[in-house]
Amino acid sequence: MADDQIYDLAPEEPKRPSPTYAPIKPSGLDAGKPMPCPHCGYDLRGTPGQPCPECGNKVSQTRIRAERERLERKFHQQAWFPSVLTIAIGIAAIILASGYAGSSTGGGAAGATGYILYWMISLAISVVVGWVVYPVLAFLWIGWSSSIPTTALQLAGAYAGATATLAVLELTGLPIIPLLTSTAVLIGLLCKLMDVDQNDAVALAVISWGIKWMIAIFVLNAIIQSGGI
Ligand SMILES: [Zn+2]
Repeated sequence: MADDQIYDLAPEEPKRPSPTYAPIKPSGLDAGKPMPCPHCGYDLRGTPGQPCPECGNKVSQTRIRAERERLERKFHQQAWFPSVLTIAIGIAAIILASGYAGSSTGGGAAGATGYILYWMISLAISVVVGWVVYPVLAFLWIGWSSSIPTTALQLAGAYAGATATLAVLELTGLPIIPLLTSTAVLIGLLCKLMDVDQNDAVALAVISWGIKWMIAIFVLNAIIQSGGI
């Protein structure tokens, strides 16, 4: 009795003394891909087959494939969802901040539209600069961790969050602080959304934000001088 209870506490131990394993034969399409056990997630590659040596449950190639596809879908959703959410919140914050800036300067709806246009151009420039700078840094030392569309979305999310922070903090009229805070937000979002380490995020943020502001000042001045805003 006491011995049985000890074995209950050690799930790694096979329950039966010597199970007979049947090899799982992956079809050509599945060769080399992960083979997660549908019951416990244990990767069955390199194991004698079924039942699962980890949990002892019977598994089949069909259920392994279904489990792998479920995990892949989940992974891809997790990779892009936080970025899309950050972009949506960022744009909403930019619109609200622009509306407030437009009404507080007495410009009304036209003033608000001008601010929205200003921040959207600013955001678009950041995203394009990020899309150019990141592959260069990734090639030099950071390395790629996601697919190209996911990486593009993650960069857009980080810049949307940083631009929205700047748009909101600019309403305070304080010097320097909005720029410093938005740079910190950019570094934080790059770490969180892209899973790059902090030094890489700082390098990416400082280089891209620097290039962005040089371009933005040039482009926005040109637009303002031509009477566009
Ligand atoms: Zn298992």
